[in-house]
Amino acid sequence: MKILNLNEGSFPINFSIKLETIDVPNIGKLQKDLLIEAEIQKISKDLYRCAGHMKGDFKDTCQNCLKDTEVEISNDINVTIKDLTEIHHDSSEQDQTHYQDLEYFDLHRFIREELAIIYPDIVKCSENCLEREISRGKEKNLPFKKIRDLIE
Ligand SMILES: [Zn+2]
Repeated sequence: MKILNLNEGSFPINFSIKLETIDVPNIGKLQKDLLIEAEIQKISKDLYRCAGHMKGDFKDTCQNCLKDTEVEISNDINVTIKDLTEIHHDSSEQDQTHYQDLEYFDLHRFIREELAIIYPDIVKCSENCLEREISRGKEKNLPFKKIRDLIE
């Protein structure tokens, strides 16, 4: 666990983290290291910005055919960071904002939350896996099938 005090120190803070495991519910199993390279900048008092990149390979299951499916994450991080005390009186919702105690900023918690946001909601083994299922469903209603049913 890596804790930063964002109320003190000099900025920007650059970090490069390699994680072998990560505990995020409802995502695939991390195959190789998860790499995070980013920079935290102080915009103003109580307002920070983290920009960088997250990369990792996960083994998941196609939600349609249940086949093992590789999920490759390679996403930019671009998020506003504010103190937890701001969460209730913050009306700006156009930005993605991460709230945490700035004095005890848990970098791993930040990474877990970012990964949960980045990770795809729908995991499919191929682009058209779902479509294939739908067309198979349609076949049952084709006219010749009905005729064949009448004959039998
Ligand atoms: Zn599939």
